[in-house]
Amino acid sequence: MRTVFDCGIVFSIQKFSEFDAILKIFSKNNGKISLLARGFFRPKSKMIGVLQLFCETDFYFFPAKNEKSLCKLIRTENFSPPNFQPSPDFFLISEFCEKFCRENQSIPTFFNFLSEIRRASDAKNLAVIFLVRALTIFGFFPDFKFCSKCGKKFSNFAFWKMSGEIFCENCDNSGQKLNFSDIKVLKSYQYFSLEIYQKILLEIKSYQKILDFLFLILKNSHHTSFFSQKFFKNKKPESNFC
Ligand SMILES: [Zn+2]
Repeated sequence: MRTVFDCGIVFSIQKFSEFDAILKIFSKNNGKISLLARGFFRPKSKMIGVLQLFCETDFYFFPAKNEKSLCKLIRTENFSPPNFQPSPDFFLISEFCEKFCRENQSIPTFFNFLSEIRRASDAKNLAVIFLVRALTIFGFFPDFKFCSKCGKKFSNFAFWKMSGEIFCENCDNSGQKLNFSDIKVLKSYQYFSLEIYQKILLEIKSYQKILDFLFLILKNSHHTSFFSQKFFKNKKPESNFC
């Protein structure tokens, strides 16, 4: 049987039987893959303990024989653990990968972003940063700089529709209202690198409003609620807010 090599980020580890696990990995070349990891939970397993959630790893696997069977993990190597501890942000990222990514659909920009955000140990706005960037990659949002209708730069307020479009106040003033500083921060989350965006914070009163709106967009686009939303109800990121 043909052996395939890839590298990827583990976003889910589920028990399959007493000793076996199903690992879900977002990989560089094959997109989302579900892998049967035999013996994962055995006491002498080489994977348990090192292969943790959001670690990045090289791996070899046997592709699935048909639609009903699973790919089989052969071995993993070169583990790189994540920089952030399991937190509500992690549940959200994992749930997003599960619901938005299709099996075997490679999305290099999303892989690179996941690989980058694993290092975002200090990002206080991680949930908003993740959703804005991830949904941009998946084609939901236009540039936060220009009105979707007239194409003019925002100079004051903008109005964000559930469809993802953003209008200036002259074109349409319904939807989620964003002030100029919100717009600047969201734009940085769309395109800046980790070193920069993790230091740029939303005003505290904007954080919950924008996060709630992002969850509404998720629900609207996917016709299903996000289980992880309950962890973010009235959660105020701890410190370092401007
Ligand atoms: Zn306009």
